[in-house]
Amino acid sequence: MSVKVAVRVRPFNTREKDLGAQLCIKMDGQTTIITDPKTGNPRDFSFDYSFWSHDGFTEREDGYLLRADDRYADQQIVYHELGEQVLNNAWEGYNCCLFAYGQTGSGKSYSMVGYGANKGIIPVSSEEIFIRINQNPNPNLMFEVMVSMLEIYNEKVQDLLIPVNQRPQGGLKIRESKVTGVFVENLSKHPVSSYAEIEKLMEKGNTNRSIGSTQMNATSSRAHTIFTIEFKQILINNDTKTGKVSVINLVDLAGSEKAGQTGATGERLKEGCAINKSLVVLGSVIEALAEKSSGKDNKKGIVIPYRDSALTRILQNALGGNSKTVMVCALSPATVNYEETLSTLRYADRAK
Ligand code: ADP
Repeated sequence: MSVKVAVRVRPFNTREKDLGAQLCIKMDGQTTIITDPKTGNPRDFSFDYSFWSHDGFTEREDGYLLRADDRYADQQIVYHELGEQVLNNAWEGYNCCLFAYGQTGSGKSYSMVGYGANKGIIPVSSEEIFIRINQNPNPNLMFEVMVSMLEIYNEKVQDLLIPVNQRPQGGLKIRESKVTGVFVENLSKHPVSSYAEIEKLMEKGNTNRSIGSTQMNATSSRAHTIFTIEFKQILINNDTKTGKVSVINLVDLAGSEKAGQTGATGERLKEGCAINKSLVVLGSVIEALAEKSSGKDNKKGIVIPYRDSALTRILQNALGGNSKTVMVCALSPATVNYEETLSTLRYADRAK
């Protein structure tokens, strides 16, 4: 298993601008430097990919956008560096996982799903899958694509592609089979033959995400969403069929902010704890897998703690063995978020 870690800095949001936000982060090549606004002490981190998407444009009075910064990484650049690699790996038959990690509002959904015309990695990759399939010159090579989408909220697993009133009360069960490994029982899988079909399913899934009594954003940011594309290539040679299957998991993780900092109590605090626990377990699983594959595992053999959270159990097949994992860590540029951004960088650093 191999893990690549990317970090991406977003522009200031309106609230930060209104507060006269200051930058606490900069990038120099592969190095990300964060400075403590209180002490002025800088800290360096280095990752496989560093995307500077902070204030890439300035707007002229006539509304024309001028590119202000040569390093600016837009959606296309991020897709080109990360999404294309995922597809290449899937074509070769590897399982792939792409995670977006970071505090709420740091840009996870922007990178994964995108907004409006600024499409993120999931829609662009889905589109590209069918472009590649349609360009395939081998008449003996057939493709099957299936999509599923689930949410983990408070350790409970729900199918996002079936109507809310048809969901089982306690959520779906995670089971293990000797043949196929870990799977989510009764999760619906939808065969698709075009990008338009995937787009429709994604929209349906997004409207079925957990919406609490308070603001939608506040609640949906507490759930992990997994969008899975199962991609099968079948080669027909005379009467024999050989197949290659790759499972691509695109995971928008719940906000990584600490429960305490959002003033959570009661039910909300319980959610906060469950989310943080699964993020901690995910970090430990990735770290253990990375150690194992780098040969650092020279003592008794590392136990990978998949079973400690619903998230890692579900992704067990996808993370171990012949899989390629990419973690995109979304960063706020503003000093007000310094603590959270530092903790995201530390998390990213452990995953390398
Ligand atoms: P999250 O999913 O982490 O909660 P979002 O992706 O919704 O955060 O991002 C919060 C806001 O910041 C959104 O309005 C989004 O459009 C904006 N944003 C995030 N990343 C970028 C980026 N790279 N470029 C431009 N705007 C961004």
